[in-house]
Amino acid sequence: MEQVLNYIQGDLRPALGQGWLDGHAPADGSVFAHIADSGAEDVDLAVKAATSALTGWIAMGRQGRHDALMHVAALVERDLELFAQAESRDNGKPVSLAREVDIPRAISNLRFFATAILHWSSEAHITDDVAVNYTDRQPVGVVGCISPWNLPLYLFTWKIAPALAAGCTVVAKPSEITPYTTHLLAERCIEAGFPPGVLNIVQGMGGKVGAAITAHPGIPAISFTGGTATGARIATTAAPMFKKLSLELGGKNAVLVFSDCDFERMVAETVRSSFSNQGQICLCGSRILVERSMYERFRETFVARVQKLRVGDPADASTDIGAVVSEAHMQKVLGHIELAKEEGGRILCGGERVELDGALAEGWYLAPTVIEGLGPACRTNQEEIFGPVVTIQPFDSEEEAVAMANGTVYGLASVVWTSDGSRMHRVARQLKSGIVWVNCWMLRDLRTPFGGMKQSGVGREGGEEALRFFTEAKNICIKI
Ligand code: NDP
Repeated sequence: MEQVLNYIQGDLRPALGQGWLDGHAPADGSVFAHIADSGAEDVDLAVKAATSALTGWIAMGRQGRHDALMHVAALVERDLELFAQAESRDNGKPVSLAREVDIPRAISNLRFFATAILHWSSEAHITDDVAVNYTDRQPVGVVGCISPWNLPLYLFTWKIAPALAAGCTVVAKPSEITPYTTHLLAERCIEAGFPPGVLNIVQGMGGKVGAAITAHPGIPAISFTGGTATGARIATTAAPMFKKLSLELGGKNAVLVFSDCDFERMVAETVRSSFSNQGQICLCGSRILVERSMYERFRETFVARVQKLRVGDPADASTDIGAVVSEAHMQKVLGHIELAKEEGGRILCGGERVELDGALAEGWYLAPTVIEGLGPACRTNQEEIFGPVVTIQPFDSEEEAVAMANGTVYGLASVVWTSDGSRMHRVARQLKSGIVWVNCWMLRDLRTPFGGMKQSGVGREGGEEALRFFTEAKNICIKI
């Protein structure tokens, strides 16, 4: 049995309490690893290590931190295939996706922030002939980074890379459901001679390790990505301690399809935006709103394309849809499909578990599911499902489409399909979401602000936003 260990003070070690959790492979339901089941005492050890490493890490300067991060990135790139296979096994995602998206993006995250810090400058404000003000941005200190299971190494590095580049030291917790590639990352850190204590990874359950990180008085800032309910719990603990908080939470993203769009491109991308990573991406479009004049054509073409998607072995290069992340998550998604039926929804395709043959018979597979006949206010169109399930709804006017898109408590991402240049801007500006993609989806530039409005989050990640979060701005005013 393989082991997923904590990485504290530069060493790989089991939890102090010697407990272990099972690590499952969603493809066949088997247990392939034992994961350190850590607790508050392991977090405390990690905070001590991070605190003692802080001064030395800051003293390495921007160039030193850049070099250290680039070295780790190079080792991950060297072992890209190993990482991709491991991510696919741990998460159930097609290995092709891990190979082309997850791991390359994790490498880019490390490189992007390693170089960003070299180019970062701060503001100066000249107060007439009276004074010069300049903004000094110093690292916040020891920061906590808590990440989810859907894009495990991708989102883990999206947090730790800016924190480390900015000069913070880190106590990080990946999801207990998909921790394996962070263990591989820790091994590469050791190989690269990354300074001990600068990055610490504490494995284990959210309710124990995540909660201990959130409550620890030695951690003044928390960067969290996960569900809205967990975000609320974290805020409840952290807010009275006046910690800095960055919360990237759930979504119920709308895709607005206007009849003047490029139909072929729209359909191809909408299949992708609906079912990539089994629909388990916070940015996936789950409510597809289609102008009524095009509705029938869209429904027919879209459903036919979705039915062609291959659900199968994540290790097989021809698989489009792999396994969902856990049995509990599969049951949760199936529960949402039952709810949709109770609410009067018609299942146009999918709607059930897929049972594969042979060694994969115990795996957690779901057929990509399209539902119609539900109004915007029902629970199916209000609650996040986070699986391979989308609804389609017709609309009659631009105003109605915008109102439907904005009509949930979430506000993470939206997609607009239109060829009308004025409408692109008009609609995009009215949508209450942190990201609007027009005639594309998941086209990412790491310099742009990333995050959600309303219950999809607080704060922004990406580019300078992330570097600002991990630093404290101090105004220094010098009288002339
Ligand atoms: P969770 O909120 O369940 O978990 C996220 C992380 O928080 C995990 O590491 C989890 O640990 C940990 N955690 C759980 N409970 C606590 C707690 N009480 N205190 C501190 N940490 C805790 O989300 P999922 O992992 O299920 O991820 C799916 C959710 O993430 C979806 O809602 C999705 O929309 C959202 N998401 C948002 C993104 C965004 O950028 N806005 C991007 C990706 C996902 P453990 O798993 O070990 O219990």
